[in-house]
Amino acid sequence: MGEQVFGSSGTLTLEMTEGSPDRTGPYEAALDTLSRTATHLKMSAVEQKLYATCKREVSVSFPIRLDNGTSRVVKGYRVHHNTALGPAKGGIRFATNVDIDEVRALAMWMTWKCALLGIPYGGAKGGLAIDPREFSKEELERITRRFTRELADIFGPDKDIPAPDIGTDQQTMAWILDEYSVVAGYLAHGVVTGKPLALGGSLGRALATSSGVTEIALAALKEEVGDPRLCTAIVQGFGKVGAGVAQLLHEAGVSVVAVSDEYGALSNLAGIDVHELQRHYSAHGRLTGFGGAEHRDRDSILTDAADLLVPAAVEGVLHGGNASRVQVRVVVEGANGPTTPEADQVLNSRGVVIVPDILANAGGVVVSYFEWAQANQGYRWGEETVAERLKERMLDAWSRVRAYARAHELDLRAAATALAVSEVHAAQQLREEIVSV
Ligand code: NAD
Repeated sequence: MGEQVFGSSGTLTLEMTEGSPDRTGPYEAALDTLSRTATHLKMSAVEQKLYATCKREVSVSFPIRLDNGTSRVVKGYRVHHNTALGPAKGGIRFATNVDIDEVRALAMWMTWKCALLGIPYGGAKGGLAIDPREFSKEELERITRRFTRELADIFGPDKDIPAPDIGTDQQTMAWILDEYSVVAGYLAHGVVTGKPLALGGSLGRALATSSGVTEIALAALKEEVGDPRLCTAIVQGFGKVGAGVAQLLHEAGVSVVAVSDEYGALSNLAGIDVHELQRHYSAHGRLTGFGGAEHRDRDSILTDAADLLVPAAVEGVLHGGNASRVQVRVVVEGANGPTTPEADQVLNSRGVVIVPDILANAGGVVVSYFEWAQANQGYRWGEETVAERLKERMLDAWSRVRAYARAHELDLRAAATALAVSEVHAAQQLREEIVSV
């Protein structure tokens, strides 16, 4: 499978699902899961507080010169949640509604994700509150380079390693790599992951998150429904993660009956020809106008009947207002935080199996870790090696989470978080014992 160019679609916003009645933002959702995990693990109040609080939070604001000669002020963040297990690792998001609480939540989820997958990293996240589609390539380059200079003190191959997320791509990573390297005085290949192959990126990184989501989805369908080739799927979001998931599910024989992006949705009960759709998307940058399916309201497909739903867009799309109408057997979270705590409860009580983000979409950071290891070794791995090692780690984590869930009668989110928090806590205690009152 060839490398795809990150973010070539240019579809980059973070619109929340209409009509969400939940007031819970991503940080509250992350704290809610942590609080339930702390109760399960019998953690003390001081231990819980340690993990509810981010270790380091940097907020920056700087002027940027636009092509028309005027200036604009841009606001951004970088947060390290916990670094007990290793350097801080996490994506950088360019989207209008980026704020400190969202970045905190995403950083916390990165801590748990890395710990669960056995990756020696702590959790980080960053973002700029901009809509990248409003800027020219030259303006985006100036913004990215300035953001990098603002954060050059905290970035570093052994300190903090960014990667692409919503609204950023391998070109963004190339600019960060270059700017950081100029400041550091050497070509610091290990300072970012998700960079272009020509600059030391890893084979298999572009599709890594989608591959991981698909492996887990196929395993979950086998377990909960039966032969995946007889199953149907809905994929929300058609960006770096969603388009790859739709493609890989289709190639695995799963019938993809509905997809959406921020502008609208498509459905076809006989199955959408995903390869044909990808050609349309590459040409038009949106799903609208595709001939091989019925055009629908964007959010309507979330409550269609199917075996599998993969939300792969933004946070909070499954909420108290639609969870009772969701008609799938399995939800595999391609996006970070797509299910609010209220929806989580409703879906669990209705017997819908939810594979949580910190497990399901961890393929991206697993191959980011492989990319970093290759940069540190100065030795490139073959595509098959990357794919095999990714699959092995994803399926191993899947088995461990399921076994823990069964043993402790927990849902998969609670089990995954408990395993992850325990890993972090063990390292934390060895480094600096937390003494409870
Ligand atoms: P992206 O910017 O490439 O794509 C986002 C897609 O979601 C676009 O197709 C956009 O049109 C669509 N979208 C936005 N709002 C929508 C809505 N309300 N309904 C339907 N579609 C909508 O971003 P991405 O990298 O694919 O990231 C998607 C999610 O996956 C995010 O939550 C991100 O944090 C998470 N994630 C990404 C990676 C990665 O490697 N890129 C890794 C792990 C997790």
